[in-house]
Amino acid sequence: MTPKIGRVFSGIRPTGHSHLGNYLGAIKNYVALQDEYECVYCIVDLHALTTVEDTLDLRQNTYEMALDLLAAGIRPEETILFVQSHVPQVTELHTILSMVTPLGKLTDLPTFKEKARQQPHNINYGLVGYPVLMAADIVLYKSDVVPVGVDQAPHIEFTREVVRSFNYRYNANVLIEPQMKNTETPKVLGIDGKEKMSKSLANQIEIAATPEATRQRVMMMVTDPQRVKRTDPGNPDICNVFSLHKIITPAGDVAMINIECRRAGIGCVDCKKLFAGNLNKALEPFRAKRGELAAKPAHVHAVLEDGAARARAIAEKTMVEVREAVQLP
Ligand code: ADP
Repeated sequence: MTPKIGRVFSGIRPTGHSHLGNYLGAIKNYVALQDEYECVYCIVDLHALTTVEDTLDLRQNTYEMALDLLAAGIRPEETILFVQSHVPQVTELHTILSMVTPLGKLTDLPTFKEKARQQPHNINYGLVGYPVLMAADIVLYKSDVVPVGVDQAPHIEFTREVVRSFNYRYNANVLIEPQMKNTETPKVLGIDGKEKMSKSLANQIEIAATPEATRQRVMMMVTDPQRVKRTDPGNPDICNVFSLHKIITPAGDVAMINIECRRAGIGCVDCKKLFAGNLNKALEPFRAKRGELAAKPAHVHAVLEDGAARARAIAEKTMVEVREAVQLP
């Protein structure tokens, strides 16, 4: 195996089924970065608690997320895949980092304001501290690179600030400032063609769904809003379906749509049918692998246990340095 050039960390919430935004914005990079980096990927169940009030599905969702990640190409022999709450050191570091975090910085974050808007009845303390827990995760593993969608940019910047505050306050050089890593599609729009694709906005296309369910979701996608009739020429440059065609569909068909849409040679319905077919084809290997893994739940649980043990070893090493820097008695 070639030597790795650094460490990668990222977390994903087990709040439901993974969607195309998660895959194209983050998971694709999780897989690719394994070639060059030592990777640590975490299913962040504690983070999920900030938005999920009913935890009846939490265990099942955590397991399903492990299936998604393994089926997408995470290689547990080299990569550490684990569940956040299995490494309690993160909550200790979260507490310590919260002491170098001005409250106003958290409440000013656009991500907090958006969540507060989405769940005004449940603006809990954990929701405010979400970025501190995320920073704790990233720095606990001394991560150099964090693959995430662009929605997470304020949290990565916050993490860098917390690292500087911690190292300055405790006159230590213990924690590392991470870099964000986006894919070529850092923000995938939902089927509404307006908002970021998200489980919480119910505008997602799930990657593990059946081909028929996928087709139905694709057929609901909003296209160029100015193209009202089939005979109207369309503008692919402002069409969300076309932007996804460019990632999923073979180049020849992309070029054809780019021409035909503009002169009303192809209608939105046919364009979406083509996309659904290509998307289902692209997802076929993932779905087959996921099916095989789902038949081996003991194996999946063993992967997560092994990942947690390896993660705890790194986490404890960092915490020894952190406690020393803070001079905890
Ligand atoms: P969700 O927003 O659907 O609840 P998460 O918050 O669990 O998903 O996000 C997991 C990862 O997927 C993060 O790195 C996030 O930036 C990325 N991600 C989520 N939605 C999108 C999107 N629509 N486009 C690009 N990346 C996304």
